[in-house]
Amino acid sequence: MTLTAPKPTSAAARRKNVATQREIQIKKRYIARLRRGDLLETIVYFSVAIVLALFLADGGATYFLSLKDVTTGIGIVTGLVGSDLMLIMLILAARIPVIDRTFGHDKALAVHRKLGKPVLYLILAHMFLLMIGYGIAQGLNPIAEAIDMIVNQQDMSIAFIATGLLIAVVVTSLVIVRRKLSYEFWYIVHLLSYGAILLALPHQFTQGMMFAEGTWARWYWMALYVGALASITIFRVIIPVASSLRHDLRVSSVDIEAPGVVSVTMTGRDINALRAQGGQFFTWRFWAPNMWWDAHPYSLSAHPDGRSLRITVRDLGKGSARLLSLKPGTRVSFEGPYGIFTDASRTTKKAVFVGAGIGITPIRAILESSDLDPLEATVILRGSDAQDVYLWQETYDLCVEKSASLRVLVGHRPKGVNTWLSAEAYSKGESLLTLAPQIKNSDLYICGPTPWTDLVVRDAKRLGLQDHQIHAERFDF
Ligand SMILES: Cc1cc2nc3c(=O)[nH]c(=O)nc-3n(C[C@H](O)[C@H](O)[C@H](O)COP(=O)(O)OP(=O)(O)OC[C@H]3O[C@@H](n4cnc5c(N)ncnc54)[C@H](O)[C@@H]3O)c2cc1C
Repeated sequence: MTLTAPKPTSAAARRKNVATQREIQIKKRYIARLRRGDLLETIVYFSVAIVLALFLADGGATYFLSLKDVTTGIGIVTGLVGSDLMLIMLILAARIPVIDRTFGHDKALAVHRKLGKPVLYLILAHMFLLMIGYGIAQGLNPIAEAIDMIVNQQDMSIAFIATGLLIAVVVTSLVIVRRKLSYEFWYIVHLLSYGAILLALPHQFTQGMMFAEGTWARWYWMALYVGALASITIFRVIIPVASSLRHDLRVSSVDIEAPGVVSVTMTGRDINALRAQGGQFFTWRFWAPNMWWDAHPYSLSAHPDGRSLRITVRDLGKGSARLLSLKPGTRVSFEGPYGIFTDASRTTKKAVFVGAGIGITPIRAILESSDLDPLEATVILRGSDAQDVYLWQETYDLCVEKSASLRVLVGHRPKGVNTWLSAEAYSKGESLLTLAPQIKNSDLYICGPTPWTDLVVRDAKRLGLQDHQIHAERFDF
């Protein structure tokens, strides 16, 4: 038998092979994330199906056998589905790592918000239909029935209070109302949703069939309630407190980047264990007078180097303005890292990064942390003047290091044109395609003011980019 030595492959062929392997890895990771997403979504639909199946299995079908009971039957079903979705809303807001890694924190919160109104309508329908249904059975009008429920039935008075709280939470969360309220006021009212859930619980034990002894439903609902409330306690309280104590972060320097913009560097213990990526954000609390009561989300502006974490903040409001006077040595506690505005959401090898104003922060950090071959990335920066292009020198150096092409567009937008481009770039006929010719085969990462971001997304979609290629980090939840 003769053995033939493998032909030596050329350096170019080896490079091509490595690039293909990397592309395959990115695709595999993307498909795994899609599958996880499908599974989690299926669980949500399944939970509604389980609730209905348990209702029917525990004798619920009898409500639909006679016309006079139908209203009560539908009233119970709306209550069950509404409660199920309300607990799912809690789970979505609990910052559970698998949900964050699959959909991203922003998308999970968007679904949480979307469910708010339907849940309220279901709970209101539950209340009114039962007032009518039980009223028919007792020969009372709905108002008299409601009074009878509150006065004579155990735990019903607090269930009505719970509905009132829920109305307050949903109304203060409507975009039009929320814009008029301070974040802090909205946040405190929002905390009432936990009160609403806890106040509604006793009537489900004493009046409802959810917890009837000896039923499967009892176990399902107990697991869901305990799971949702435990997730909130673990991921929003216990882990952040434990992690803040463990890493013992302190401000090590505060550097002025531009008027009203500072970079805050924090050092602590065992930073690598946080496994934070450039492009992610934390919710930070600085333990200084006038600041400790107020936590804010800020993205990392540099990929963590194992010793320190850095954020760059612009004084866009009262809370962020206070950071300009932050002193080295200040203790810092945090929740996070959160978000998938990172390499984790890549679907292909090439990437285009577009940042405006303080939106440069996660763009610069993700550029630093991304696995990119030379000429695979394009960076487009936008500022109303040259001073507005923050972290400019660092971003320039990173583009040189990664052989990424860099385009900077400064100046105001053209008057009367709905575009994200500067007047100069617009007049020269520039577009996303001329600035980043590879864009159609790339992932597009955008961060900047929301209306500006929307215009970049609009142009990307007009070019035919698919939703999964577009990753926008919005600095408002
Ligand atoms: C994911 C994410 C990453 C961000 N990264 C950066 C960054 O790297 N650099 C930077 O300068 N800014 C960043 N921001 C924006 C920054 O968090 C807000 O500018 C800051 O919270 C405003 O607070 P303020 O008290 O200064 O202003 P305010 O006048 O109190 O509020 C201004 C706006 O910020 C919102 N806001 C206030 N507090 C919070 C909060 N705790 N959570 C969510 N929204 C809040 C308010 O609803 C309002 O719309 C980020 C925001 C998000 C959501």
